[in-house]
Amino acid sequence: MLVTFHGATREVTGSMHLLTMNGDRVLLDCGMFQGRRKESDRKNRVMPFDPGIITNMILSHAHIDHSGRIPILTRDGFAGQVVCTRATANACTYMLPDSAHIQESDADYLNYKRVRALMVELRTGDQQKNNNGEALKEIRKILKRDKDGLNTEAINDVMARYRVEAVEPLYTKEDAQHALTAFYGVPYRSPVAVGQDMECVLYDAGHILGSAVTIVKAKADGRTYTVGYTGDIGRFDKPIINDPTLDFDEADRNIDLLIMESTYGDRDHDPVTDMMPRLKKIITETVERGGTILIPSFAFGRTQELLYAIHLLYQNEEVPQVPVYVDSPLATNLTRVFAEHPEMYDTKTHNDFLEEGKNPFVFDKVTFTRSVAESMALMREKKPHIVISASGMCEGGRILHHLRYKMHDVRNTILIVGFMARHTLGRRLLEEGEAYENAGRIGNPPLLRVLDKEYPLRARVISIGGFSAHGDRNEMLRFVEKSNLNIRQIALVHGEEEALTAFSRQLADKGHNVVVPRAGESLRVGG
Ligand SMILES: [Zn+2]
Repeated sequence: MLVTFHGATREVTGSMHLLTMNGDRVLLDCGMFQGRRKESDRKNRVMPFDPGIITNMILSHAHIDHSGRIPILTRDGFAGQVVCTRATANACTYMLPDSAHIQESDADYLNYKRVRALMVELRTGDQQKNNNGEALKEIRKILKRDKDGLNTEAINDVMARYRVEAVEPLYTKEDAQHALTAFYGVPYRSPVAVGQDMECVLYDAGHILGSAVTIVKAKADGRTYTVGYTGDIGRFDKPIINDPTLDFDEADRNIDLLIMESTYGDRDHDPVTDMMPRLKKIITETVERGGTILIPSFAFGRTQELLYAIHLLYQNEEVPQVPVYVDSPLATNLTRVFAEHPEMYDTKTHNDFLEEGKNPFVFDKVTFTRSVAESMALMREKKPHIVISASGMCEGGRILHHLRYKMHDVRNTILIVGFMARHTLGRRLLEEGEAYENAGRIGNPPLLRVLDKEYPLRARVISIGGFSAHGDRNEMLRFVEKSNLNIRQIALVHGEEEALTAFSRQLADKGHNVVVPRAGESLRVGG
């Protein structure tokens, strides 16, 4: 069997690996690259193979960096099934159309900018294009319906008249809807055929609702070759969902190659037990200052965990009970997905909430905002409150508007609860905010660009590692060492260079045979 690594090699996004044996070609994940805009766009647009040759694919979990390119796959000729858990399939019915919506809006905005620059040039002969104030104002009036809505008809009109080359979205909402027809949800621990000579079994990865560790077994020449794929591995003892699986069925234990994530391969998280006291302190102190807590959060997983944690603190009257807003329509829909899969919850969640007939994510003080108008009103809200909004790495979405209104105010707190990839606004907020804090907040605050304008970062930036959905190096090591898997070789993916290097050294010290593949590289498993 041949394993080719097509994404998330020496980086954390774009997960995609191809298993080939005899006539079977099975894809593990089909994730989107995120980070520097131009570079990601280029990598996302070109598939390294013809999607028509792929037999079936297996999806580890619903996060976009693992699922985001499936609409391209199905649009461009893939005719197989996307095998995943039912919860993952259910979550993708919201995640993929939302991703398409972002792609379409991005393309619309870029087209607007092209047309605007062309019109200024036509009207004024100004090569600087966007520097002519009066003309720009008039042109904006023609091309926009209101403050944020574009007049796409007017824009398309100009593009057609002057033959401006349009920016096409990576995929459309129709492409995303079409992709959803390929999904096939299966329970954990139930073998399913994915090729002529290949079958797979999914086990709970404890990362987010429905996340899976995949075991693929391929039969050739009278023997079985087995590849394991961790997807993203969760933390142990976290609320709501179960721990990563350590106990695999007898038939799935002997792994020839384990493709393993390594996001936090060089770091230890705060213990899970520190999460609640830290959250309590941050909420209390910020509210005492008269400030607001702004939490950029993945819509799926993190948002629900935050709601769960805040609910517990409110229920036990441990913090001032200020209003909580979930300002992300996607997160609101996904919270419903959580409510539809209580069979995936751990015992503590059952004891604390479900047995008393309570929904862990819905309580008195929570409002799920839907409309843009509600969201805009919230941005201007002065009284202390908590906002949970997406995108998680601050690369788009409503969180950008909240940052714009709130990051300059020293009373506010920006609470970082997840991994921020390199070249994202979230990473800059975290690094520059912490640097300013460590320097004693002396001198000018860092200036950060949000939606084309610079703002001073005076709000406090605090991170709680405990909320991470990824295990730290000890937890990943626990998966390798304490599970009942017998692993012959490990290929590390889904980590930035430092994390990969540190983690591969640690595994090698424990006697494991480790490789760190490059993009496009292949490994032969067995003969
Ligand atoms: Zn993930």
